[in-house]
Amino acid sequence: MIKKLQQKIVIIITILLTVAVVVVMLAINIMSQVRNNSKIQRSLEILADKNGISTILGFDPYRDEENLNADSFAVKIGANGNVEITLNGNTNTDSTVLVNYANKAFMSGNKTGYIGNYAYLIREKSYGVIVVFIDVSTIRQQNESLVITTVIIGGVTVLIFFGLAVSLSFWLVRPVKITLDKQKLFISNASHELKTPIAVIKANADVLEAEIGENKWLSYMKIDSARLGELVDELLELARLDDKSGHKLKFEEFNLSELVLQTALPFESRMFEMGKKYETDIQPNIFYKGDISAIKHILSILIDNALKYSDENGEISVRLYMRSNKKIIEVYNTGIGIPKDKLDKIFERFYRVDEARSSQEGGYGLGLSIAREIVYRHKGSISVQSEYGKWVRFIVVL
Ligand code: ADP
Repeated sequence: MIKKLQQKIVIIITILLTVAVVVVMLAINIMSQVRNNSKIQRSLEILADKNGISTILGFDPYRDEENLNADSFAVKIGANGNVEITLNGNTNTDSTVLVNYANKAFMSGNKTGYIGNYAYLIREKSYGVIVVFIDVSTIRQQNESLVITTVIIGGVTVLIFFGLAVSLSFWLVRPVKITLDKQKLFISNASHELKTPIAVIKANADVLEAEIGENKWLSYMKIDSARLGELVDELLELARLDDKSGHKLKFEEFNLSELVLQTALPFESRMFEMGKKYETDIQPNIFYKGDISAIKHILSILIDNALKYSDENGEISVRLYMRSNKKIIEVYNTGIGIPKDKLDKIFERFYRVDEARSSQEGGYGLGLSIAREIVYRHKGSISVQSEYGKWVRFIVVL
């Protein structure tokens, strides 16, 4: 739970800051692009005003203001069809190529635009028409290097923020962790304290029953103290599983097929009494290294739930098989099933889909959280599938 909270904090902080960094990067690049475009347009206008002649080597019409340093040329076409080319700066391309550029500019149908590495502008003059060109390759290179620089700076910033988010998350979840640890300690201590008085009540009820014979009130006392005893046992089991240092699972190699069979078979008589159809399909000789009693406990919880929550004359099945080196246990039952939006909640402590039915069945909503804890300690996974109103299937992958 703490880990999930921490992950959420890191994900949220990183996403928010990444969005902010991306927005800033985009703004910088778009603004620079817009500024450069208007710089080019103004330079084209000035070059056209000056009839395509730039007095400065390495065309720089607005040297002081704009500092656009680029080569340029102009193609003038007189009313009588005369073509005159003006070259500025280092432009030394063949004149037919330059005239070809001018033709392309005319054919584009736009007064201004880009052809290859040149920006152009067409202007009508008293003598005919002039097309001015400015080499924009340098400015494009500047744009590209700005994009690369901002991406690198942005990436590094996001990485730094990620690191900060991770350390911040430790600090943020600390109070929650302390409270949770205290709560667990309290539950563990309280359960220990309750264990003895419950046992005493049960024993006294037994003694009293032996003295006065069967009695309705005594039997209620015995039933409820037994239920209370089960609750305390489940709480203690959870507290033990939570205390990872204290509760050492005993990992040993064993025949999982036999364990599943041995755990599933004793349920047969109860299933039969209750009119349920019960099937087991267990692949023989599957071996597994884990804690035998803990794995047995998971199976009991799942089969017991299948019995409790299946419908009248319902079907229940227990399967064990291998799939790509994984051992898979499936417990299936027909019945009311579990609504889709509750599927991930049923593994939470004290969660019951139908409070009334569960307490009537004697459940406190702890069985599945114990099962999940045990599965996690075995580095496996537990999941549930259900078609509401029809069936439920629990799948344990070890
Ligand atoms: P409980 O002791 O209440 O059975 P669990 O933790 O074992 O507690 O189960 C939590 C809840 O999940 C149950 O209260 C029940 O609503 C639902 N549930 C568990 N197993 C099944 C099942 N096989 N079919 C339908 N609902 C189930």
